[in-house]
Amino acid sequence: MRALRWHDEGDVRVDDVPKPEIQEPTDAVIEITATAICGSDLHLYDGFMPGMEEGDIIGHEPMGEVVEVGSAVETLSEGDRVVVPFTISCGACWYCDQQLYSLCDESNPNAEMASESMGHSPAGLFGFSHMLGGYDGGQAEYLRVPYADVGPIKVDSGLPDEKVLFLSDIFPTGYMAAENADIENGDTVAVWGCGPVGQFAIQSAEMLGAERVVAIDRERERLDMAREHSDAEVIDFESEDVYDRLMDVTDGHGPDGCIDAVGAEAHGAGPSSVADSGQDGEEMQGDRPYVLQEAVRCCRKGGTLSVPGVYTGEMNGFPTGSLMNKGLTVNTGQTHVQRYLDPLLERIEDGDIDPSFVVTHQESLEKAPEMYETFRDKNDGCVKVMLNP
Ligand code: NAD
Ligand code: ZN
Repeated sequence: MRALRWHDEGDVRVDDVPKPEIQEPTDAVIEITATAICGSDLHLYDGFMPGMEEGDIIGHEPMGEVVEVGSAVETLSEGDRVVVPFTISCGACWYCDQQLYSLCDESNPNAEMASESMGHSPAGLFGFSHMLGGYDGGQAEYLRVPYADVGPIKVDSGLPDEKVLFLSDIFPTGYMAAENADIENGDTVAVWGCGPVGQFAIQSAEMLGAERVVAIDRERERLDMAREHSDAEVIDFESEDVYDRLMDVTDGHGPDGCIDAVGAEAHGAGPSSVADSGQDGEEMQGDRPYVLQEAVRCCRKGGTLSVPGVYTGEMNGFPTGSLMNKGLTVNTGQTHVQRYLDPLLERIEDGDIDPSFVVTHQESLEKAPEMYETFRDKNDGCVKVMLNP
């Protein structure tokens, strides 16, 4: 089959590889109809994520048709149309019991590698480094799905792929980011980053009762998209001072909730650069503070920081003093996707939201390498790339 493989920093290629097979009785194999490139894939592409090996198949936002199931799979059968969450979860451990699916204790076969640096291992993820399981990813024609009874959600309603595909990651991720901001009716929420995750965080903040959402980025198309699909006000951080503007709109108090939907990108944070560079982001964005610093500074006293943005390694210069003295709460993590599948599919079916608004590019899998570049460089108004293998 054809699959997108990581060869090196900035080097991904569509190669011929063997088709996946059932390895465990709880596996299924899916023929992929649609799959997307995520901001998290850019961290692999940019070489920020440790534990990548040449030839790794990447991608973690797939959907398609079940073509084979293992003998122990009970909920799926051949021909089912499913969306597959990026988090691989056993469904039976203490963490899965608490619906903390991205912290599953059983699904990372390389748990030791992750524990070495983190103390414990999070769940395995599709196509996302050996540190998080080394599973083959979903930018391919076929995908082996472990614990097939726990992840994939069946979609029978005939909704087109582009409306349901983002249940695999970015819609639940934006939604959990908004939940993690502890929004109460009347709150003001600031969202750093108007990429795909930021767009869904903005929408979700409104769904959860935020009175005012302020969206921050420097990409005109992304700021326009936020304005067009929500009531958010926007700040272009290259032409306006973010702190001053946020104080203006909150009578000097600062936003109640601050969401960092940017992650490592803004800081030029590579796995080796993080510990020894001081990580002040100076290479990337002049003398601006990095997003987490800015968010801590802007957040109202007693407010909440929600961090869906992905970070790796360590970062110096984090304002622990301000965090503590301002009494802020921090919520973060990879998304517990399985927790959100049913309620968010229902919202799509009810017409509350049409997630396809983020798609700006739809191409064949063969075009993936070119699309990585386009998405990373935000060329051609690119916000989200959907690939059809
Ligand atoms: P993206 O790269 O398309 O979007 C990031 C956006 O941030 C860009 O539009 C960029 O212009 C903007 N930006 C950069 N520096 C900024 C700054 N200083 N202030 C404000 N905006 C700034 O990525 P995405 O797909 O939207 O993903 C966003 C983040 O969410 C990534 O770190 C990704 O890894 C992470 N993510 C996390 C989860 C999770 O489970 N927690 C899931 C998916 C993605
Ligand atoms: Zn993703």
